[in-house]
Amino acid sequence: MDYYIITGASRGIGEALTHKLIKPGNTLFAVSRNMNEDLVELAAGLNVPLFYFEYDLCFREQAELFINEVFKHIQLSDHDRIALINNAGMLEPVAPLKSIDFALAEKHLDLNFLTPLVLSSVFISKTSALKIPKVILNISSGAAFIPYSGWSVYCSSKAGLDMLTKVAGLEQNAEKYPVKIFALAPGIIETTMQETIRKTENDKFPERDNFIKLYEEGKLAKPDDVAGLILETLFSNSIISGSVITIDQLKEIGI
Ligand code: NDP
Repeated sequence: MDYYIITGASRGIGEALTHKLIKPGNTLFAVSRNMNEDLVELAAGLNVPLFYFEYDLCFREQAELFINEVFKHIQLSDHDRIALINNAGMLEPVAPLKSIDFALAEKHLDLNFLTPLVLSSVFISKTSALKIPKVILNISSGAAFIPYSGWSVYCSSKAGLDMLTKVAGLEQNAEKYPVKIFALAPGIIETTMQETIRKTENDKFPERDNFIKLYEEGKLAKPDDVAGLILETLFSNSIISGSVITIDQLKEIGI
């Protein structure tokens, strides 16, 4: 049995990942604030166990509740594999640092950074004694290494997530049965997050027109294609634990 824990499954990349994973042999744990009824229906029709949790991952308590609930449903044996995909994320607040909404920034950092930290920590501790393939994938962004005006919080949360990945990889490499952990910048994908970017006022995000141009030129990737690439490489030995990679590097790895 393969076990997959996916955050932010209601739409975008998370929905595409979950959709592809609904197949016999998999048990899925999905979370977002709003349940995706279509995914639940599809899984029920195919008899694939899909446990869908509605939690707000801007709250650490709910993140802890979620991951502990998940592990109540899992009994791992020698032939199993398990993966955690920290995908849920938000872009806002988008504004120059001088006028940032602090309350929103706090929510953002909880969702984009603290929740992956909490989920990864519990995942590692619950699986540490098991000699099976174990993977954590953190969905990062090119914004982790390219600064964009107006995205001080987003760039910082994703840069933090990348560094968390590197440190955890280092720690895990010293373990007897390590969890492989890596971060991926998935490219520019046509999801609600991109719609949000295109709707931002120019004075808050001066790069907006470039994103509109990419969209108009049809240069945005499809969530389904990105999800396919991710899943083909999730358990691949080609990916080194602690690494931070881009979708283009993922393609080079042999997909
Ligand atoms: P979407 O906005 O389309 O989807 C975000 C997902 O996260 C939704 O399922 C949403 O569900 C969930 N989510 C948001 N807030 C919360 C919350 N408080 N608690 C629980 N779940 C929440 O985004 P994408 O699919 O585009 O993004 C997925 C990841 O990819 C993000 O980490 C993003 O930073 C990253 N990324 C995306 C890029 C792109 O071009 N799209 C580029 C680079 C990185 P709900 O609202 O139901 O809670």
